[in-house]
Amino acid sequence: MKKHIFNAGPCKLPEVVLRDTAEAVLNLNDSGLSILEVSHRGMEFMPIIHEAKKLLMELLNIPEEYSVLFLGGGASMQFVMVPYNFLNKKAAYLNTGYWSRKAIKEAELFGEVVITASCEDSNYTTIPRDYKIPRDADYFHVTTNNTIEGTELFEDIDSPVPLIADMSSDILTRRVDVSKYALIYGGAQKNMGPAGAAFVIVRKDALGKVNREIPSMLNYLVHIEDDSLYNTPPCFAIYTLRETLKWVKEQGGVSEMEKRAKKKADFLYDAIDSSKVFTGMAEKNSRSRMNICFALKDEYKNKEADFIRHTSDRGIVGLQGHRAVGGFRASCYNAMELESVHFLAYTMKEFEKMILK
Ligand SMILES: *Cc1c(COP(=O)(O)O)cnc(C)c1O
Repeated sequence: MKKHIFNAGPCKLPEVVLRDTAEAVLNLNDSGLSILEVSHRGMEFMPIIHEAKKLLMELLNIPEEYSVLFLGGGASMQFVMVPYNFLNKKAAYLNTGYWSRKAIKEAELFGEVVITASCEDSNYTTIPRDYKIPRDADYFHVTTNNTIEGTELFEDIDSPVPLIADMSSDILTRRVDVSKYALIYGGAQKNMGPAGAAFVIVRKDALGKVNREIPSMLNYLVHIEDDSLYNTPPCFAIYTLRETLKWVKEQGGVSEMEKRAKKKADFLYDAIDSSKVFTGMAEKNSRSRMNICFALKDEYKNKEADFIRHTSDRGIVGLQGHRAVGGFRASCYNAMELESVHFLAYTMKEFEKMILK
């Protein structure tokens, strides 16, 4: 049975990427070596990491004064590295959900954290729009896509202080004006590749301004100096990440991904909005294209387990909402095919008919 993988992360990757990766594990470029066995400083791996950087620069139109890093530790390590490297006295954060709160918690270890705006009152179903970024903050941090709550911020904000964004779950899904950001980071495992690597895009001249000693492993300047090879990088994850970036480019780049993302999300939200038994969770003007959160209406809540069974019997995987919010979540990252989204909508309709009978 074909599997339709709606996992939130790690998530579905393109078929061709999986095949190439499998081949590289057995025989990398006909070298008789496995990607798992080669030196990270050797001639087999160096071109791979360099090409990955080049592709990311190209796909996102990253200006030259920025560096691209691939590091271990996931996005959660960036929650620590960002304040370590940027927070002198005070930082401003937008609180838009679970991952923002995790980022805020780490920053509080380093100095004052101002919550510029929060959508806690709406149970994180909206994105705050009216707020003032304090001009004396060292930086302003936003989470552009709230993976768990299913809300998304589509604009590149004009910030009077360095803008830093966690783009773990929407990088490469919309065109971004990188020049508006001092730093963009994320875990690769949602749109860029498998788990194990985080990406960092940082404007070099925004660094070196804090008055504290920074341990080498947590210091962006050390990683820039050594071109992501200060220590052994997650070579295998970077290999698959490069294959994924190649695939994005071949498909037509970020603008094509954006078009497809809109198409998939519009289709699924239409199915939800026109349903008699399902309802969307996020406010319409804050809805994420990547993580589509929905639930059964109150009167059908007792059918949740039935719906999960109904879908998994048909090969649909990963629909259970995050334990923090419940309901269902269909994650439609770049590799998700429109056909699978159509199939999910059809299956929802089928289930609706069944329970209304
Ligand atoms: C998944 C996710 C994270 C956490 O990533 P890890 O790589 O597991 O640390 C952080 N922020 C956002 C927005 C995410 O979606």
